Amino acid sequence: MLSDKEKRAQYDQFGADFFEKGGGGRNPYGGAGGAGGFSGFSDPRDIFSQFFGGGAGGGFSFEDILGGRGGGRARSHAQNGQDATVNVTITLEDALLGTTKKLRIRKNDSCPDCGGSGAAPGSQPQTCPNCHGSGQVMMNQGFFQAPGQCPQCGGTGKVVTNPCKRCSGTGRIRVEKEIQINIPPGVDTGSKLRVPGGGDAGINGGAQGNLYVVITVAEHDVFKREKETILCDLPIPLTTAILGGIVDVPTMTGKTRMKIAPGTQNGTLLRIPGKGMPALKGGKRGDQLVKIQVEVPVKLDSRQKAALEALDLNSTNQPLQEAFCKKAARFMDN
Ligand SMILES: [Zn+2]
Ligand SMILES: [Zn+2]
Repeated sequence: MLSDKEKRAQYDQFGADFFEKGGGGRNPYGGAGGAGGFSGFSDPRDIFSQFFGGGAGGGFSFEDILGGRGGGRARSHAQNGQDATVNVTITLEDALLGTTKKLRIRKNDSCPDCGGSGAAPGSQPQTCPNCHGSGQVMMNQGFFQAPGQCPQCGGTGKVVTNPCKRCSGTGRIRVEKEIQINIPPGVDTGSKLRVPGGGDAGINGGAQGNLYVVITVAEHDVFKREKETILCDLPIPLTTAILGGIVDVPTMTGKTRMKIAPGTQNGTLLRIPGKGMPALKGGKRGDQLVKIQVEVPVKLDSRQKAALEALDLNSTNQPLQEAFCKKAARFMDN
């Protein structure tokens, strides 16, 4: 029966039913179409080509209709396990140094009693009696017949006659697991880490899904972050801004000191190299930017007020104010 190669290929693809109903040289759809429209087709591909404009070119491939790629007899209905996603919020300090987190996750794991086969320990899944192991049977598709997935075995070609008690024959069990994940330095909000095999177990030998850990880095009360740059506001006294001096500055890894030049204006940005965040791909840390906030004293006693008045600061060099007044003069005429 399977002496010639083509027949063999068709048998592999459609199973024994195809031949029982008359394939391989004769029209497998004989009579179904009425009006003799389909006589003379020896290859079911021809018929599909006519209907759907010829395979991939028509946007509808032969394989789409038959529900799978043609191929070997050992057609596997392996189904990969589903991926899982879990959200994790960490501190900016954790993002700087990296950290480990323990997570409790729920997933479908391969049943340890039956090794995922679904058959009770000591027994084996049996060849499906409906499709004789091919996974496919002839189905009515409108007015003709075409091979389709066997409803009894779901296309696997095997049925479990003696189901595993632990997983009720499904091959998988629901488990709750604690896993530890390593979060590398440099992660940012939106970073997605992949834990291979952390998702659901596959079905019929399919690959294990992955677990994706989506990171959120919590807002920090001192530092802001823009990629590898750390930003920090630093209030300084008016006197320091005018006369210059040395100030303490917090960084993610401890205190440092910074020189303030005489005449430093409000909003000035000063850079501290190497005190930012590391990049996720490694390399040296970014910089920290310090934004100076010159603080105007708010509770002066009469002695301080008198002293300030005596200084007559308004008559001294105020370049910003001078420049602004010149530009804005035309709006201040009347
Ligand atoms: Zn089991
Ligand atoms: Zn079957």
